[in-house]
Amino acid sequence: MRLIHPAILQIRAPAICFYALRDSRGLILIDGGFIGGPRLLSRALRRSGWQDEPIQGIVVTHGHLDHILNVNYLAKKYHAWIAAPRLDADYYVGKAKYTGKTRITGWLEAVGRPLLAFRRFTPDHWLADGDVLDVANGLTAVHLPGHTAGHMGFWWKQERLLFSGDLFVSYGSRAQFPLNILNANPLQIRPSALKALALKPAGILPNHCDAAEPPVHVKRLEQLLERHTLAPHAGHS
Ligand SMILES: [Zn+2]
Repeated sequence: MRLIHPAILQIRAPAICFYALRDSRGLILIDGGFIGGPRLLSRALRRSGWQDEPIQGIVVTHGHLDHILNVNYLAKKYHAWIAAPRLDADYYVGKAKYTGKTRITGWLEAVGRPLLAFRRFTPDHWLADGDVLDVANGLTAVHLPGHTAGHMGFWWKQERLLFSGDLFVSYGSRAQFPLNILNANPLQIRPSALKALALKPAGILPNHCDAAEPPVHVKRLEQLLERHTLAPHAGHS
C-alpha cells in the first residue's frame, strides 16, 4: 500500500491494485480488489492510520472478476453503498455473455467465480456517463467503453485525477492496452483513451500498474496512443 496523494491510498496486490479515496465524511473504494483484497485493505487502512474512517461506498469501474470479487463482502462488512456501470449489469450477477475472443475470459471467469466464492450483488446506484457522485467534491463517471461495454473511469475534477480502471495497463515501458481476449469491443478502446486524455488529467490511476506516480501514467498513455496512431489496432493478442 502507498499513499499516492494525501487523500488516495493505493492498495497493491501482485497483479492488481485498487484505491481508497478520502473525503470529509470517510472513504470511498474504487473497485474491491481480487484474491485477498479485504485483508490487504484492512492492513493498508491500519498502516495509513485510516482504520477509523467509515467506508461510505464502493465505486465499480467494470464487471470483471478481478475488480468485483469482493464487492458484495466489502459492502456488507462496512455497510457501504455500491455504485456501478449499468451496462455491465450482467457481470454483477455472474451472467455476462462473452463472444469472439473474449470467450476465453468468459470461461476463466466461469471457473473462477465458484472457486473464489464470488457473491453476486445489486448496485444501489446505477451509473451512466456523466453521473456525478457526491463524494470528494464531485467524482464524475466517465464512460470509457471497449474493455467491457460499461467500463468507466472516475474523474476527480478538483485534483484533475482520473481513476482509469482497465483502460490500459501501465508497467514501465510496456504500457499496453489490455489483451484483446479481455476486450469486449477493441475498436472502442482508442476513442476511449482519447476521451480520457481530452480531460487533460494531471494524473492517472490505473488498476493494473507499477508504482509510478500518477503523472507518469498520463505520459505512458499518451505514448501508447502515439504508437497506436502509427499502427491503429487497439489492443493486441
Ligand atoms: Zn478488466
